[in-house]
Amino acid sequence: MNYHILTLFPEMVLEGLNTSIIGRAVERGTISINAINIRDYAMNKHKQVDDYPYGGGAGMVMQPGPVCDSYEELCRKLNRRPRVLYMTPQGKVFNQSIARELAKEEDLVFLCGHYEGIDERALSLIVTDCLSIGDYVLTGGELPAMVMIDCISRLVPGVLSNEESAEIESFHDNLLEYPQYTRPEEFRGMKVPEVLLSGHHKNIETWRRRESIKRTLERRPDLLADAVLTKKEQEYLREICQERACTEDHIVIE
Ligand code: SAM
Repeated sequence: MNYHILTLFPEMVLEGLNTSIIGRAVERGTISINAINIRDYAMNKHKQVDDYPYGGGAGMVMQPGPVCDSYEELCRKLNRRPRVLYMTPQGKVFNQSIARELAKEEDLVFLCGHYEGIDERALSLIVTDCLSIGDYVLTGGELPAMVMIDCISRLVPGVLSNEESAEIESFHDNLLEYPQYTRPEEFRGMKVPEVLLSGHHKNIETWRRRESIKRTLERRPDLLADAVLTKKEQEYLREICQERACTEDHIVIE
């Protein structure tokens, strides 16, 4: 997977993505991170890339020329036009299933805005996907790009080791992950659940699935509508729902 980040702050993304698991994947060559400074494509000697918005109003807007030129030069080098993900609070909210889909691409371009955003004409010419990391406004698209790159990279084969596997964790089957414990067996009077010490794999698996269902019901009941549950698990969900007198409309139990 090759990431290309169009940004006014290349050092921010390069430094941020240079450590731990992602940094090691870059060193091994499993992924590559190429930060392109949009300012290098400025058309004036002051290297200015923003200007006042037509029609007035607060803030500055990134000009279309440098944005399009930086992308076009990348396309010439790659000899193709990769998908361009524009980081914007107006986009679809990024999630694990979007990450899974994007992880299949060979090249991805992240376009990071700043100030009041980017001239609409550049966006209409090059952007293929508008993505947000949540319903709040940040100063720039660099942090969202880093969040998405971190998440997508975990799904690229070879980035995680076996011990770090991304197979069963939160959002797998649309459920949150079960609680985790490590040594010591007893901490400040609290013991690790007995079943986890039993060595009985089938019972451990059942306990974990049930804890996942319980936790999802408590913390993110909205996910349960699309959760993949066996008949027995549906029965269990119905039981805990009745115990708690759930009134969530989106929990559909057949
Ligand atoms: N004026 C824009 C609006 O109201 O939609 C917001 C501009 S914001 C101050 C500057 C840049 O930060 C955006 O162009 C975008 O790249 C990035 N950004 C801010 N919040 C974001 C979010 N929640 N998700 C993704 N990108 C975001």
